Amino acid sequence: MNTFQKVKSRIKRFVVPALFRCGYYSWLLHTKGRSNRCLILMYHRIGSRNDAGGCLGGQDGISRSSFEKQMQFLREHMTPMPLSVLVKSLKFRRRIPPRAVVVTFDDGYADNYLNAYPVLKKYRIPATIFLATGYISTGRRFWWDQLRAMIRQNPDLPLLMAKKGLLPPEIKEGWFSAGPRNQHELVESLISHIWQHQNMRPDKWIELLEQEIEHNLLPSDDYAPLSWEHVQEMSRHDFDFGSHTVSHPNMVHLSSREVEEELGVSKRTIEQHLGRPVEGFAYPIGRGEHYDSRIKALVQKVGFQYACTAQLGCIWPEKWDIFSLNRISPPSSLPYFVRDISFYLTFPYPVTSHGNRIIIG
Ligand SMILES: [Zn+2]
Repeated sequence: MNTFQKVKSRIKRFVVPALFRCGYYSWLLHTKGRSNRCLILMYHRIGSRNDAGGCLGGQDGISRSSFEKQMQFLREHMTPMPLSVLVKSLKFRRRIPPRAVVVTFDDGYADNYLNAYPVLKKYRIPATIFLATGYISTGRRFWWDQLRAMIRQNPDLPLLMAKKGLLPPEIKEGWFSAGPRNQHELVESLISHIWQHQNMRPDKWIELLEQEIEHNLLPSDDYAPLSWEHVQEMSRHDFDFGSHTVSHPNMVHLSSREVEEELGVSKRTIEQHLGRPVEGFAYPIGRGEHYDSRIKALVQKVGFQYACTAQLGCIWPEKWDIFSLNRISPPSSLPYFVRDISFYLTFPYPVTSHGNRIIIG
């Protein structure tokens, strides 16, 4: 970060909370909100700890107290609606209510039940959870959490991976020359390498490593997946469930037969447990490079009615694709959360935001 960027970010850190405190963003939303626009929020983990840092830092988790403040804001200033109702409104070109917002979760962490569900019930906010069904009720951590924990418990694991040719050269070199300070970064680059790995599904990769090392990972509330009992209970209270495949692979690297299996098995499994049709799907990882027209066609072929991505942006009139619905990943801080919502719903033309950049989308 250069000096100009540092100064800009310091000013922003002061300005955004100040504008929030004086009610500027809420005023914007209520007076300048564009008609027929809607936002789909994409959450992953809601942690029980009150700090948003530590194990919940980064993109995939916020604390329960931050989540509660956000839901309170949605109830007081926005129009929360079920995803299925939004999809019907889009399909049949019905009017979307002002300041419409939809809450979704990906993966199926147990903390969605333990921490998010009570808050959502309290504020009467509907939500949809997209499940990677191969993990539900297994007590097994999702493969990326498992890998992080395995490396923490086995600092020599990268050596074994290098011997087996599982560590790409650029990460291997960085790993052995970097101190512990950079290890976190290296683990994250290893995870993104596995996402891109073309020859083996990530869950198989982890299984292979598990056979080679001794590890002792007890299921933990912090990382455990949901159980079917959790899912059934939430489903009785109007929570909706969609598919997020079985094993959470990068689908562009799978054959069409494998993609169909991931989609079909996941869909049928949820339907068997809930006794009702599953209409929604969310692409694993979900950025532009993680799905394509082939995958979209297979999602339709298997019988899904709509699909969500992780492409940042709002749903806006006349420019939406029911099998490629944009979402945004909410920041944990309330002022920035409200700033982002007002930005997407009031900007004069449609935008997607990538960090500080604004891209016409
Ligand atoms: Zn996911």
